[in-house]
Amino acid sequence: MEKYDVAVLGGGPGGYVAAIRCAQYGLKTVLIEADELGGTCLNRGCIPTKALLHCAELYESALESMEHGVFTGGISFNYAALARRKDTIVAKLRAGIASLEKAHGVTVIKGFGVLQDPHTINVNGNLVNAEKIILATGSAPARPPIPGIDGENIITSDEVLAMTECPDSFVIIGGGVIGMEFATLFAALGKKVTVIEMMPSILPGVDRDIVRMLSQILQKKGVELVTSARVTSLQGGKTIKVNYEQSGQVKSATGACCVISVGRKPMTAGIGLEALGVRMARSFVEVDDRLRTNIPNIYAIGDITGKMQLAHVATAQGLVAAANCAGKDEKIDYSIVPACIYTSPEIAFVGMTEEKAKEAGKAVQCGTFNVAGNGKAMIMGAKSGIVKLVTDEATGEILGAQLFAPRATDMIAELCVAMKCEGTIEELAATIHPHPTVSEVIMEAAHDVEGLCCHSMPKVKNIWEKREVQ
Ligand SMILES: Cc1cc2nc3c(=O)[nH]c(=O)nc-3n(C[C@H](O)[C@H](O)[C@H](O)COP(=O)(O)OP(=O)(O)OC[C@H]3O[C@@H](n4cnc5c(N)ncnc54)[C@H](O)[C@@H]3O)c2cc1C
Repeated sequence: MEKYDVAVLGGGPGGYVAAIRCAQYGLKTVLIEADELGGTCLNRGCIPTKALLHCAELYESALESMEHGVFTGGISFNYAALARRKDTIVAKLRAGIASLEKAHGVTVIKGFGVLQDPHTINVNGNLVNAEKIILATGSAPARPPIPGIDGENIITSDEVLAMTECPDSFVIIGGGVIGMEFATLFAALGKKVTVIEMMPSILPGVDRDIVRMLSQILQKKGVELVTSARVTSLQGGKTIKVNYEQSGQVKSATGACCVISVGRKPMTAGIGLEALGVRMARSFVEVDDRLRTNIPNIYAIGDITGKMQLAHVATAQGLVAAANCAGKDEKIDYSIVPACIYTSPEIAFVGMTEEKAKEAGKAVQCGTFNVAGNGKAMIMGAKSGIVKLVTDEATGEILGAQLFAPRATDMIAELCVAMKCEGTIEELAATIHPHPTVSEVIMEAAHDVEGLCCHSMPKVKNIWEKREVQ
């Protein structure tokens, strides 16, 4: 039986990075993957959705290009070609991961691994022995027990991302991040989209002003947003029917395809956790801030830990677990984790909202800036958007930021770095931002915290009157 220092079970963004980092620390490492390297993120998640969204955005921009004085004519799209392009990107990145593992000396074994004892993993009958084990088996789409859920044309994100043709209408159950990214995608391609959400609004947990602005944009594009609605049953077929209850009334929505997007369940069943006595919280693996389970040599990272189901969190956890496997003592810190939603415009946020900061007992001061007032955003054709910064009134500490703007998902990193370095709002405001860029909205909002934003109207009607009063 081959013996390793570390065995990593699952090759998603948590596991494949953890394996490389273990090898960098000089540990003899094996990575066991049942399916394809890259996991959900690369094969059925982050990358394929964004590849399709990019194409949809191109198509939508081409349709709107006349507003910019560009006349192309005869604009159309071929969904099969979009899907092929997405697959090419995924395949290239997947090959890249395989090369990286090899170059770092990580052994990759293809097969489904089951823990046999705290040091042994059974991979399709072959035993792998390791001093330490990192569990990174990820998650899969949840299918709630709604009558009719297994009907024809009722699918999850996995099947959506494998489609080579695009139906004309969709009913999306679930207005969370994944549901709204699909709504953005299909609406941009001119499809009829209905979203049914159980909560009173889409994207629960996201800043209310941003949700309101996004809802208006989507509704303008013809997306029907049905909220406070509980789906009671489904009828599959060429035309699917989704029955739901809203305000005590029984209603239904129809479409050519129904996408179930109501969350993801951890892949913790059938991998030997129960027999080993690995402590679970509901069906997630319980870990401490060093990513240790209750079994001393077993660590767990990524979606199975139920912390935040995000690829970058899985990776960050993987790096910490790898360091601890190498005898270091590292802790994970979840206080500055950016979250991104690839709607149009994009949404990105980090830290606390104004509400949450107040709930935490902080005296807060906020700065906002209307993205429509930014030159670059206007050049890009963005018609609305907002940036909000939340700061501690006493210290100037940046407590949180919410962006709804073109390229918000790239710009949020600036705020993460500022927060990580414990920068103050004054320092952010004094940072010279390049012009013309959308990133200037962050500087403008920082100035607004002090009431000194030069590119928005004064908040008092007559500024001289106010000065005299003071
Ligand atoms: C449609 C969609 C869009 C998303 N978009 C984003 C986004 O934009 N940004 C973001 O941060 N996150 C996004 N996510 C979430 C992100 O994909 C996950 O949080 C991330 O992939 C979790 O990483 P992981 O390493 O924990 O597990 P996974 O990526 O799920 O990988 C786990 C791997 O383990 C393998 N495995 C499971 N059991 C075994 C076993 N017993 N033996 C061997 N191998 C096994 C699986 O085959 C899989 O490859 C998205 C998810 C979806 C579904």
